[in-house]
Amino acid sequence: MSEPSPGRLLGIAASPGVAVGTAFVVDRRKVAIPRRHIEAREVDAEVARLRGAMSAARAQLSAVRDKLAPDAGEHSLILEAHLLMLDDTLLTEQTERAIRVEKMNAEWALRQTVENIKEVFDRADQDYFRERRSDVDFVGERVLRQLLGASSEIVKPLDLSGPVVLIAHELSPADTAALARADVSAFVTDVGTSTSHTAIMARALSLPAVVGAPDATRRIATGDRLIVDGLRGVVMLQPDDDAVYQAQLRGERYIAFVRALQCNRARPAETLCGHPIRLRANIELPAEAAVAIDHGADGIGLYRTEFLYVDRSEPPSEDEQFETFRRIVETMAPRTVTLRTFDLGGDKFSTAFRFPREMNPALGLRAVRLALREREVFRAQLRAMLRAAAYGPVRVMVPMISAVDELRAVKAELDLARSELEASGKVYADVPLGIMVETPSAVMMADLLAREAAFFSIGTNDLIQYSLAIDRGNEHVAHLARSLDPAILRSIARVVDAARSAGIPCALCGAMAGQLMCLPALVGLGVDELSVEPAAVPEVKAALGRLSRAACQALAAEVLAMPGADEVECHVASLFGPVLRDLLAGGEAGQFSETGSFVLPEYG
Ligand code: PEP
Ligand code: MG
Repeated sequence: MSEPSPGRLLGIAASPGVAVGTAFVVDRRKVAIPRRHIEAREVDAEVARLRGAMSAARAQLSAVRDKLAPDAGEHSLILEAHLLMLDDTLLTEQTERAIRVEKMNAEWALRQTVENIKEVFDRADQDYFRERRSDVDFVGERVLRQLLGASSEIVKPLDLSGPVVLIAHELSPADTAALARADVSAFVTDVGTSTSHTAIMARALSLPAVVGAPDATRRIATGDRLIVDGLRGVVMLQPDDDAVYQAQLRGERYIAFVRALQCNRARPAETLCGHPIRLRANIELPAEAAVAIDHGADGIGLYRTEFLYVDRSEPPSEDEQFETFRRIVETMAPRTVTLRTFDLGGDKFSTAFRFPREMNPALGLRAVRLALREREVFRAQLRAMLRAAAYGPVRVMVPMISAVDELRAVKAELDLARSELEASGKVYADVPLGIMVETPSAVMMADLLAREAAFFSIGTNDLIQYSLAIDRGNEHVAHLARSLDPAILRSIARVVDAARSAGIPCALCGAMAGQLMCLPALVGLGVDELSVEPAAVPEVKAALGRLSRAACQALAAEVLAMPGADEVECHVASLFGPVLRDLLAGGEAGQFSETGSFVLPEYG
């Protein structure tokens, strides 16, 4: 990567397309606070400053509450709770005491009190109190911002005119889902990688995005004009009219390229020699089912149902989930829909569950581990899935399986869910139960897991994270996370062989399935099914149609013996680069470098 120039930021190309718009900078980070011991003579003034900040925060919250529509329901209740918290003696007295006795400045005293209260709530037995932790945090941050004179609006209404480019340190999956409802044309984050969930969501929404652009929130101000090039991972700051014009042309060329590919959507997904590869779509939002069909997907290979749980205080009910699944199944029928049970934890949290504070959430109470702790919630989801299966072909898939016993425990829950439906007389149909292979232990145990699972789907986003020990959300190590690393290719080979010996299908639904330069190796290794974001279906279909299976098999045998990703990438580029180049370029004139990586022409 070259050095950034003053008017541009370099990040990771997370979602393709080019957008021009006005920046809106969102600051959701905890404010940094000054800490100092004060003199005895400063105490009264410091207490007065605290009280002033509290009444300003109170006035501000009351004003927001008064502006809310009368039917705002839960929202106004939350605001009431926050207002009550501001009057709480625990918060005010403890903070004042810390100022008077421990001689802390007001900001420091307040942060300390907030942390103490959160700890008390943490230890409480009742869920109600545990859930109040985030409320205390929120109220504390509001008062702190008053003390510091910082803007207290964490998210402002998007009242800028024209297309808006959202700039944030990072966006939670819930924030990103909310973008679907706002007039946002692109986004840029300081942190993240192309397989972090924010990036996946951006692609689902077809919004150009650059992530892992260090300093974006520091260097960009609300109101700045920007170009976001999600193909190159470049953000141009305050471009002149000519650069804007060029960017618009690029954006249009990309759209034309995408449209041209889409003309082939009705073609079967097969190699040049006619070997079929099932090509399905990954979705995060129910509305994407129609998009998947529109792009020529043969079913849903992964529906990330956890997005039904984020951004809400209670898990969705069985009926609500059933209705959602049924709509997707009916839209897709007669094509198969693969419903993945919720994969919460890691980087996707829901306030509907109490998550412990973990040092390594990716290695913690995530996915199936959380499901097996929250069995009632899990079974409600399984019942909803079984009921939806009565409306069309459904498969159920469990994320992050790391042991045979775990799969057996899930099977027992599924049996129980079935008998509960039986007892209540609800209509349902049986479902094949498969697993995601995304932990190194599942790879090692694939032969035994294959005897008990109806299908496999390799989740390379996590398999790479866990096998190569690279945090998938950390942009500092993102360059090390290479799909064509022989360690990953060998893992895939092992899993495919285990599936084949047991006679079950083996899919791959990580981002690797949509990386065109990985397709020859995946076809050669014998993967039966690929599942990619809906927007990527046409280009993957086009790429598959240019590959000969025999050439792919020869490649697979060679790359399994190579020592590193560099050698594999170079070899793949030399053999398959010429036939895939135009697809990689997204309508531009790209080239392969000597090291086998594909580069688009310099910007500007
Ligand atoms: C994966 O890990 O590759 C995968 C498809 O699942 P997710 O990205 O939702 O973790
Ligand atoms: Mg995963």
